[in-house]
Amino acid sequence: MKKIENALVILAGGKGSRLNKPIPKQFIQINGENLIHFFLKRMDINNFDIILIVHKNSYFNHIKKLKNDFPSIKFLFANSGKNRQLSSFNALKKLSPYKPKNVLIHDAARPFCSNKLIVKLIKQLNNNDSVIPYTLNHDKKIFSKVEVTNTIKFIQTPQGFKFKIIYNAHKKTLLENAKDDSELINKEKIKFIKGEKLNIKITYPEDLNYFKLFSKTVFKTGIGYDIHRIDTKSKKGLKLCGIKIEYNKLIGHSDADVGIHAICDSIFGALSMKDIGYYFSNNSSKWRNKNSVHFLKFARDKLVKNNYYIVNLDINFICEQPNINKHRSKMIKNISSILKVPEKIISIKATSNEKIGFIGDGLGIAAESIVQISNEKTY
Ligand code: ZN
Repeated sequence: MKKIENALVILAGGKGSRLNKPIPKQFIQINGENLIHFFLKRMDINNFDIILIVHKNSYFNHIKKLKNDFPSIKFLFANSGKNRQLSSFNALKKLSPYKPKNVLIHDAARPFCSNKLIVKLIKQLNNNDSVIPYTLNHDKKIFSKVEVTNTIKFIQTPQGFKFKIIYNAHKKTLLENAKDDSELINKEKIKFIKGEKLNIKITYPEDLNYFKLFSKTVFKTGIGYDIHRIDTKSKKGLKLCGIKIEYNKLIGHSDADVGIHAICDSIFGALSMKDIGYYFSNNSSKWRNKNSVHFLKFARDKLVKNNYYIVNLDINFICEQPNINKHRSKMIKNISSILKVPEKIISIKATSNEKIGFIGDGLGIAAESIVQISNEKTY
């Protein structure tokens, strides 16, 4: 077996009830990733030979993907115990056959810990058995009427240990509900090092705002264009952006809603997907006379799945007739309700083709759409 130098334990068994969320905080998705993924992505994973995640069985779904996201590292999983101390002990028991030299034990609720701090902890373990980061709080505290300057050490994680030292401490301790692993070690033998102010513990809902400081906002843009021929003989009416309009019919395999088709393609483009014809082929009888709203809902679901939000949607019709202006507000309302976005971020415009060419002769209607999407919700 390859010699295991450093192991990382991430304790993710907590319930996080103070956040009032239906799932524990470590599994809340922020910009498409949970706290554990966020933390691992920002550090150099090669610092470790093994990463072990302690979790409640019922939440395995939220972490099993990590194996695919970080294929270069060996992942182990262990069940959480009744409290933090027992969860940590479970992790060490599971790691024991691998005989790691060092172990860093970290709380999943501290996703902002930097790679620099991790490297510092590992380095300090060359000369120390236990290395614990701390911060000082220089805010003044007032106890009734006595003002004191607070120099209490605030202990953080990750906490670094020689594996044997912390494993033995867990085996021998008389404590039953230690708040962290450092409590199990004689304070005299701990090397305290400076932690990081930003390595905060996500505890309250407002703490989630810290993600804004760390995460990058991504914008993507997509373009869509569609054109359908007008059936000059049929007065059956047509649909644009899902709104029925009294006019000639548009010819197409589905309901020929040129507006919705252009919007779909712009969304697919922004998501680096293929075009609408790929997903809803003209050759498939399944989509014959299909209501195009179905296609738009498919595009909307892709946005949701990829954690993107529409920032702006700009649609442009090119036709001589019908008069788009008359239907504009109805169309905006309809698209806004299908895509579940505010009306104010949708624009519908129209231009004629100055009687030039195919469109100018009133034989077709074209639509263009440009959409901007972002991983951050702007409304
Ligand atoms: Zn079309």
